[in-house]
Amino acid sequence: MATDPVCNMAVEPDKAVDKAEYQGTNYYFCSHDCHKAFTAEPEKYAPKNDTRNPPAIGAARVGHRSH
Ligand SMILES: [Zn+2]
Repeated sequence: MATDPVCNMAVEPDKAVDKAEYQGTNYYFCSHDCHKAFTAEPEKYAPKNDTRNPPAIGAARVGHRSH
């Protein structure tokens, strides 16, 4: 089971109306409209896989501090 990245609907690859490949990953779509939206701005819909990306900058870095 795949997930339509535009509307987040579950899509069976076999039954997908349309599909696209982006950065080596196949994406399946429930409709041509979702496919069009994705191909127009794939970076907006494709999940980010950058695990090195730090979480919130600032707060998380503040540890215990003693005088
Ligand atoms: Zn869709």
